[in-house]
Amino acid sequence: MNPINTLRAALVPVALLAGTGTALADGEVNIYSYRQPELIQPLLDAFTKETGIETNVLFLDKGLVERMAAEGQNSPADVILTVDIGRLVEAKDGGVTQPLVDELVNKDIPAHFRDPDGDWFGLTTRGRVVYASKERVPETEITYEELADPKWKGRLCMRDGQHSYNIGLIASMIAHHDADYTETWLKGVRDNLARKPDGNDRSQAKAIYAGECDIALGNTYYVGLMMTNDKDPEEKDWAAAMKILFPNSGDRGTHVNISGMSLAKYAPNKDNGIKLMEFLSSGEAQKLYGEQVFEYPVMPGVEPSEIVKSFGKIKPDTLALSEIAANRKLASELVDKVGLNDGPQD
Ligand code: FE
Repeated sequence: MNPINTLRAALVPVALLAGTGTALADGEVNIYSYRQPELIQPLLDAFTKETGIETNVLFLDKGLVERMAAEGQNSPADVILTVDIGRLVEAKDGGVTQPLVDELVNKDIPAHFRDPDGDWFGLTTRGRVVYASKERVPETEITYEELADPKWKGRLCMRDGQHSYNIGLIASMIAHHDADYTETWLKGVRDNLARKPDGNDRSQAKAIYAGECDIALGNTYYVGLMMTNDKDPEEKDWAAAMKILFPNSGDRGTHVNISGMSLAKYAPNKDNGIKLMEFLSSGEAQKLYGEQVFEYPVMPGVEPSEIVKSFGKIKPDTLALSEIAANRKLASELVDKVGLNDGPQD
């Protein structure tokens, strides 16, 4: 099957490949994206305006690496856009990326937010923070370590311990402490749970609103999404019932994960792909991207949106994301070992 037909055959909600068989000609760049098209379109429009290069987006909600691996050398993908270090590393390990060593990109993206080999780059960050009841939690600061403190017994909510957002956090605990400490800590966290891990991050805010728990783990951007959700206005109430505590602001900083990009291994429009990556890494693009998705630009000094600023000040942990990636497997094993998903055991 040729690449164009491969794209057309996609069983995905949105395949925005324009026009007919000429869609992959010069002057274009093809993006495989785990990010919703409406979130990245303003950014891509700005790129096209600046360079004249048209963009084609294939949105996928799963199976990006498998798909590219199956397409092999015929893959039309030039650039991958995704979220979470887990997915970026999965793309690299799956052999569907190629290294990019580019002065402009490397100047704009701090080293701890990119792959040492150049196979992935962070563009924006999201904090893994504590959602806390405004009513029932007078504390104004917290650490991840304190989540195991018995004072939170029966008061903590979280989503599935194996979810990549939690695995990233647990991997950072291993990197900062060690596996033994993290295992003991996870047992403490487990026994503080108000219920078995369940739902998504927004469900935890809902549970705080409903009085089922007092604190929960969640990503920063969901707070912006809930605050501005005109379609489901009840989410505004969930957000209004909570405040954000940025863990470890007083020491190493809050664990952050990234949204990022990679250059596809067989990028047929490689030069345009690199131009897009250089554009996306610019401070201006990071700012625009960050505004769309309620995230923080990775470039120091580039301000997030007003809504994101309203969350409070974040001091991001500067631990290299590659080191977090290296501890993900062990983190996942520990989650099973302590039975985190089974809920409290004493
Ligand atoms: Fe998310």
